[in-house]
Amino acid sequence: MEHLTPLKAIRKKCLNCSGFSTKEVRDCPSFETDGGIEYCFLYPYRLGKRPKQKTEFTPIKSIRKYCLWCCCGNKKLVKECPTIDCPLWIYRLGGNPNRKGIGRTFKIPFKLKKSIVELGEEKGFLFGNIKPLLVKK
Ligand code: SF4
Ligand code: SF4
Repeated sequence: MEHLTPLKAIRKKCLNCSGFSTKEVRDCPSFETDGGIEYCFLYPYRLGKRPKQKTEFTPIKSIRKYCLWCCCGNKKLVKECPTIDCPLWIYRLGGNPNRKGIGRTFKIPFKLKKSIVELGEEKGFLFGNIKPLLVKK
């Protein structure tokens, strides 16, 4: 399977949706709910980049919203989506499997760290490894 970033996946989906016409994607009318046209959650990112104006959802959350729309709001259907060649497929659950385990480290609050060290010293433990971490940032 081709590896695409969330923005590139959205771009590809939009091109699929518009018969591979870059002009059609650019002029997509799905930016508001009006006259039978439905708002599309991919709209802000349809050009494959982040717009200058603030967006309500991140690209991945927008994909999640889009997939829910695609499956009439049914989470189970999204999860079990069989269309693995859809550019959005790997992001359909609202996360980035390529970043699993990255950037989510558990930080012990400073006060708690300090009391652990103080308690340890009281009990006669050595905290040579923790003490240097007690620098308030
Ligand atoms: S924003 Fe939505 S409606 Fe517009 S081209 Fe992309 S997928 Fe299609
Ligand atoms: S991944 Fe599945 S649920 Fe999401 S847009 Fe594609 S076909 Fe629809």
